[in-house]
Amino acid sequence: SEIPTLSLLYKLHRITDVREPLFSPNATFNDKISIIRQDITTLEVDAIVNAANKSLLGGGGVDGAIHRAAGPELLDECETLGGCETGESKITKGYELPAKYVIHAVGPIYGTGRRGLSVEELLAGCYRSSLEHAVGKELKSIAFPAISTGVYGYPSGEACEVALNEVRRFLEEGKGEGLERIIFCNFLQKDEDWYHRMVSKYFPPV
Ligand code: ADP
Repeated sequence: SEIPTLSLLYKLHRITDVREPLFSPNATFNDKISIIRQDITTLEVDAIVNAANKSLLGGGGVDGAIHRAAGPELLDECETLGGCETGESKITKGYELPAKYVIHAVGPIYGTGRRGLSVEELLAGCYRSSLEHAVGKELKSIAFPAISTGVYGYPSGEACEVALNEVRRFLEEGKGEGLERIIFCNFLQKDEDWYHRMVSKYFPPV
């Protein structure tokens, strides 16, 4: 793929902010991670993740963009799913998208937990659940938007660390071996900046 890996970003000195690491350097993991700024609906990957709402019946932001690009058959399939709990996800086909599948994850509204789960645990659950769907279907590539950081109000820096931590933990548990690429696809410059600033805590340079 022409999307650069984290290993290449480090090699090209595109990431200069190197922080105290929380995990060991791991070249295999760094080869799987990408941080980009792009419209997620244009990505030719096995699955893109949607920042959906509990109804799964469409909305604004990235959800609206994904439904527009996928065409009306996506809504038809979503209508059969019966919604989705916050912190969980459901998978559909991608229809007119270049991506084969869409994983619809329901992020938390910032400041709201559910059944003893904190807002951070719910956001982490979105990433874990999406990765589990991808592994379950033996997919090789998945792209995430910055879930909950739009109208759901989750601060970008905090959300970015939750995402990086949960993906690293999933890989650490040996569950992501079949996944060749995990892309953090940001729409806004400030969100990409947060990933560049924080990624070395979770995926340090080797
Ligand atoms: P949420 O309700 O989970 O906050 P939003 O769609 O409002 O969902 O925002 C989630 C993130 O998606 C935000 O960072 C926003 O900038 C981003 N976003 C919006 N459109 C796109 C797109 N086409 N591709 C990738 N990310 C997008």
